[in-house]
Amino acid sequence: MKKTNNPIVAYENIKKSFGEVEVLKGVNLNISPGEKVALIGPSGSGKTTIIRMLMTLEKPTSGFIKVEGNYLWHKEMNGGLVPATEKHLRNMRQNIGMVFQHFNLFPHMTILRNVTEAPIHVLGMPKEEAHQRAVEMLEKVGLGDKLDAYPAQLSGGQKQRVAIARAVVMQPKVMLFDEVTSALDPELVGEVLQVIKDLAKETDMAMILVTHEMDFARDVADRVVFLHNGQIEEEGAPKEIFENPKSPRLKTFLSRFLKS
Ligand code: ADP
Ligand code: MG
Repeated sequence: MKKTNNPIVAYENIKKSFGEVEVLKGVNLNISPGEKVALIGPSGSGKTTIIRMLMTLEKPTSGFIKVEGNYLWHKEMNGGLVPATEKHLRNMRQNIGMVFQHFNLFPHMTILRNVTEAPIHVLGMPKEEAHQRAVEMLEKVGLGDKLDAYPAQLSGGQKQRVAIARAVVMQPKVMLFDEVTSALDPELVGEVLQVIKDLAKETDMAMILVTHEMDFARDVADRVVFLHNGQIEEEGAPKEIFENPKSPRLKTFLSRFLKS
């Protein structure tokens, strides 16, 4: 039988309003298993809202999101669709991991415990196994010598690397990164982007990366999606998007990143 390549994530005509303001105006986006998608666009264009809906932190006003073909915000019942229960959302959420702009580590826990906490208490993983995986992940992000440190003892870049390890150790099928370097001092940005690049190369997790780092987007992404004013204005291979942008809005947006 031919292997099908069904999307791991599908946004179908997603609209989202906050009060009177429609911030997403019908977004259609399919992500293939393992695909790395960079989401770029001006501030306020709806990037964060798009990924927060997948993390179940924000509910779409209309439209559908599917994860592995299953409705995220709905449940199928008697041939129709009903709103998802909290339990359904909780189950579905286990497929998704997210790293935020601000690290929000648990300040009173060691680095190691920050990473083992969810595998043990959410997944019910045996402590030994969680410990072993957490150490492996922390070594991978270059923090093998910080297991017993507390977040306050780390630099911003190190904290963000812990946050990445903490999300990845849950083995989600999709990882979301929301401008994870924009709160960092400039000299710490590189180490975090490098960790994500390495991770992207070796993992078969799909990734959606919201970023203002265009060189990084070009390096890491299989596809770049340009969001403008709540709609996908243009998308394509990094080479196409950065070397041969079609939409005037994308051209204008990219020109702001050109070094003078
Ligand atoms: P981006 O991440 O691209 O900067 P966002 O998704 O954060 O954009 O925001 C898109 C628009 O939605 C913005 O105009 C923002 O002010 C608005 N918005 C986002 N979240 C909320 C909220 N919880 N309540 C009201 N407005 C919001
Ligand atoms: Mg944002």
